[in-house]
Amino acid sequence: MSTLKLATNALHAGHDVTTNGGTTAVPIYQTTSYVFKNSEHAANLFSLKELGFIYTRLNNPTNQILQDRLTAVEGGIGAVVFASGTGAIATGLLTLLKAGDHIVASSSLYGGTYNLLSVTLPRLGITTTFVDASNPDNFGAAVQENTRAFFVESLGNPKLDVLDLEAIAGHSKKAEVPFIVDNTVATPVLLNPIKHGADIVIHSLTKYIGGQGTSLGGAIIDAGTFNWANGKFPEFTEPSAGYHGLKYYETLGAASYVFKLILEGLRDYGAALSPTNAFNILQGLETLPVRIKQHSENALALAKWLEQQDEVAWVNYPGLESNKYKSLADKYLPKGQSGIVTFGPKKGFEAAKAIADTTKIFSLVANIGDTKSLIIHPASTTHQQLNTEEQASAGVTQDLIRLSVGIEDLEDLKADLTAAFSVL
Ligand SMILES: *Cc1c(COP(=O)(O)O)cnc(C)c1O
Repeated sequence: MSTLKLATNALHAGHDVTTNGGTTAVPIYQTTSYVFKNSEHAANLFSLKELGFIYTRLNNPTNQILQDRLTAVEGGIGAVVFASGTGAIATGLLTLLKAGDHIVASSSLYGGTYNLLSVTLPRLGITTTFVDASNPDNFGAAVQENTRAFFVESLGNPKLDVLDLEAIAGHSKKAEVPFIVDNTVATPVLLNPIKHGADIVIHSLTKYIGGQGTSLGGAIIDAGTFNWANGKFPEFTEPSAGYHGLKYYETLGAASYVFKLILEGLRDYGAALSPTNAFNILQGLETLPVRIKQHSENALALAKWLEQQDEVAWVNYPGLESNKYKSLADKYLPKGQSGIVTFGPKKGFEAAKAIADTTKIFSLVANIGDTKSLIIHPASTTHQQLNTEEQASAGVTQDLIRLSVGIEDLEDLKADLTAAFSVL
């Protein structure tokens, strides 16, 4: 485990210049496969007698450096990268769960994740109870005999609710199920969920970590803390039919889940990250500590400014004194509250649409976490498939505008919004 600080790890972890040809930048290993020394070598790799690269769907040297770097910045024991955040979430859950299993999840989730849990996984016999995460006891109350995971976002997108991770972790420990935290919006710079009791951390690397809107990617970082031998996860203790009788927990101990994600999750579902995208995402990760600081500063200043504007009915940003999550933000996000701000214009739904259609620096985009500022009206776009009740529990009101505040000059961002307000 690295003893270096986060900003240093973000630049150096995983890249051994003595074995990578003395390169200062991480090389892109654009290859599908790796030459075996002989058939015995291949057999040893497949049977895990020796560790090494076999095929890029399973692993790749560029991806491995990204995995090691993410492990270092989140404080885990290992990581696996995927083609997208959604690929990470779907593969992560399908590697843990089977028909008949149950999840307890926060109702304030990214729209795609909400659909996976509420529509697609139930088709496979995996059900979810969604709870109001503002009361951690709701998680304990929703636990069933077949519950096998808790799933939350540390800073909900787009509700911006800051969760009391330690209190929820208390309930997951009592239920003896892994606590999975999607830390995409907060980023590892502002919050490390593992320090607050998370067993598994998930990221969409597409957002702040990649940071420049060029590449999709996702990751799972394992804290290595969960006891897979507690009787609830026989796939970890019994001989695996899917990997010639391997007993994961007996053979791999704390690293069981990381290996299962590769040997079964990536092998069978195939959501592998391209090495070129891993390289692009590594470029982003190197500057994440300075970027996220600027995103957070700009977002807080813009939120305070929005509160002063006549056209604005309400502003939601966890760093505002007026915010109901301010005390939780002080505890969990003391270094900054990231770059997402939501607000509602006094004139409601049509005005919100008009503002999103008018801004010039804020581009109308279904993404967050770009260095460039983005805007969207979720009720008419990203969240239109949800009914009004589902929209409300996801925190999406009819008038809500979501800003992903970039790192442009603050005065230009204010002027862009002022110009949009003037057309109302
Ligand atoms: C975007 C996002 C995802 C999905 O990630 P993709 O890379 O778009 O597949 C998951 N969770 C959160 C919080 C997100 O913002």
